[in-house]
Amino acid sequence: MNLPLTEPGAADGAPGDHLLEVDGLSVEFRTDHGTVRAVRDVSWHLDKGETLAILGESGSGKSVSAQAIMGILDSPPARITSGEIRFNGTDLLTLPAEEQRAMRGEQVSMVFQDALSALNPVFTVGSQIAEMFRVHRGTSKKEAMDKAAELMDRVRIPGARNRVKDHPHQFSGGMRQRVMIAMALALDPAVIIADEPTTALDVTVQAQIIDLLLDLQRENGMGIVLITHDLGVVAETADRVGVMYAGRIVETGSIEEVFSRPAHPYTAGLMNSIPRVDQIGSRLSPIVGSPPSLAAIPVGCAFHPRCPRAVDLCRSEDPRLVEVGPGRRSACHFAKDVLDA
Ligand code: SF4
Repeated sequence: MNLPLTEPGAADGAPGDHLLEVDGLSVEFRTDHGTVRAVRDVSWHLDKGETLAILGESGSGKSVSAQAIMGILDSPPARITSGEIRFNGTDLLTLPAEEQRAMRGEQVSMVFQDALSALNPVFTVGSQIAEMFRVHRGTSKKEAMDKAAELMDRVRIPGARNRVKDHPHQFSGGMRQRVMIAMALALDPAVIIADEPTTALDVTVQAQIIDLLLDLQRENGMGIVLITHDLGVVAETADRVGVMYAGRIVETGSIEEVFSRPAHPYTAGLMNSIPRVDQIGSRLSPIVGSPPSLAAIPVGCAFHPRCPRAVDLCRSEDPRLVEVGPGRRSACHFAKDVLDA
């Protein structure tokens, strides 16, 4: 029998203590080339008004966990094999499909990475935002368009009232991302999951979008789950971080603690690969090798082929995610040594 990869209570606290709780979530894809274990026993929680960053390289399972929360996994081939996704203590996965849809649209919404693909090119942006009010609230067409214009104004699209009848291609990348945020905000959700919301944008526009999300969070106290591979974005925005590697969380904790004293060699490697102004002229130390295929995860600790600390134990035994300090967890046999390094 396989042991769970997280110690009991890794979502922190009793069920229902937090606004959104992901508890022991595992997702697999059955493909012609075998089973892809995209998410393995992942647990985390989010509180009201908090920003949690889920950090990882592409293919680490971070977006798949978000899709599982939003109920938009391509299923089949995807299959949730275990776990709970609780919103205010209610497990979304046990609700009838209709209630799941309502909960996900109204309480938890999502901002996607690629606004151009997420928006329908045939309809005006105003009508796409208005559709949220018409479908979920039964609002009249005129009132829904008024609300759409108000929302476009709220996400600071200049001349919003004159732009409701424009189509997505008439907006810049940054403005399209604002439209996506307006759609996500339409029903006043308690949680927004933002999946790489700034990846396709240039640096200045990235900063504007992040500032906008944080301003909106201050206005309505929503919780934000920010999915990203960008350490800079995490450092600037998040309160806590969950670091993902090969489909599982390998470290969690507050931004200050994880960034200043990592407790997992993968996180330490990520930190060492950031250019720093006090080390101009010295070489960066990237993590050697590349992440494993999720269809062929190494036995033992999945990071061992790239880990400078790996010993025989790491090649045979997968370390559990255990507490290494208040609010901090690490999945490394030598987490204390890494912390003290
Ligand atoms: Fe490295 Fe071993 Fe820790 Fe895995 S368990 S991160 S291989 S030291």
